[in-house]
Amino acid sequence: MITHRTLVAGGAGFLGSHLCDLLIERGDHVVCVDDCSTGRIENIEHLVDHDRFRFIHHDVVQPGLDELVAGVWAGEHPTRVMHMASPASPPEYLRRPIDTLEVGSVGTKRLLDLALVAGARFFLASTSEVYGDPLVHPQPETYWGNVNPIGERSVYDESKRYAEAITMAYHREFDLDIRIVRIFNTYGPRMQADDGRVVTNFVNQALRGDPLTVFGDGKQTRSFCYVDDEVRGLLALMEGPVTGPVNIGNPGEFTMIEFAELVLELTGSPSVIEHRPLPSDDPKVRQPDITIARDVLGWEPTIELRDGLTRTIDWFRAKSAERVA
Ligand code: NAD
Ligand code: UDP
Repeated sequence: MITHRTLVAGGAGFLGSHLCDLLIERGDHVVCVDDCSTGRIENIEHLVDHDRFRFIHHDVVQPGLDELVAGVWAGEHPTRVMHMASPASPPEYLRRPIDTLEVGSVGTKRLLDLALVAGARFFLASTSEVYGDPLVHPQPETYWGNVNPIGERSVYDESKRYAEAITMAYHREFDLDIRIVRIFNTYGPRMQADDGRVVTNFVNQALRGDPLTVFGDGKQTRSFCYVDDEVRGLLALMEGPVTGPVNIGNPGEFTMIEFAELVLELTGSPSVIEHRPLPSDDPKVRQPDITIARDVLGWEPTIELRDGLTRTIDWFRAKSAERVA
């Protein structure tokens, strides 16, 4: 088997750190590049002394990454470049709209150039948000989406749509070897407790005994994929035969009210449900069509929401016990 030198931009984040674990496990040499704007060293602490792992603190929007990487691998180029870097939670990208647009545009171009010079395969983490507030349900990869180009959320959606477009342009113009994944809502250990996403909000509100804040009437739906399933899917795509875009997510679909009730049941919390205003352009439904992932990559999720959520709740419980101790 080939040993890869894999660069993971955004590797100190939630998904990126789980990906680094899997890459180290399969024998890769890994360089994790992160500016720690939303990620944390704590996520990769267990890897920093590993002889096949290196961390570079760097903002991928800025120049100079190629020299830094050459320094780590003594002039050897990466064979895989994985672009996971971007704010990902709605409160975070709404707080830093320009940074979000820049990491999807300038950051993506810099990493594409690095992959091109290296002769590496380039992997882009795109999102189900490219479908916006979808008019087709569930969403297949052939659906072009329904995005408000000037709405608040557009800084994230359009940044990822641009990232997909420039990645395809490098593929068509320079024959760059690429993979594009459209990731649907993923959850699990190492999410930031205060990132404002529904999973972290509900779990931590329930553990504190605070009201669960359901936005709008709570009838909007999401489909949640456990992180272990997700990163396995990302690697299946990276080493698989199709460029994508390919949806990787769990098709199990829940309303936010159903999700809140499940969190209350699994935590045994006495919290109540309170309704808050719905944010603008909040997608009403979301569910991946994973036919391509199943048929071409042989991938499908195996962890039910109930099981994954139990593991996630246990992890957040252990974290808050650590803080108290
Ligand atoms: P995250 O915020 O935990 O991870 C993103 C990482 O990128 C962080 O460590 C952050 O510090 C880093 N980063 C951001 N801007 C950077 C920059 N300019 N230079 C270097 N590093 C930078 O988020 P996540 O949930 O792990 O998401 C990872 C990727 O997957 C993102 O690209 C996100 O858009 C995509 N995605 C995630 C989900 C999900 O449900 N988690 C869904 C769809 C798409
Ligand atoms: N949401 C909610 N309460 C919260 C946070 C989010 O009801 O405290 C809703 C949000 O309006 C959306 C869904 O949960 O409909 C998923 O939100 P999240 O921010 O996790 O991710 P999104 O899929 O919108 O990017």
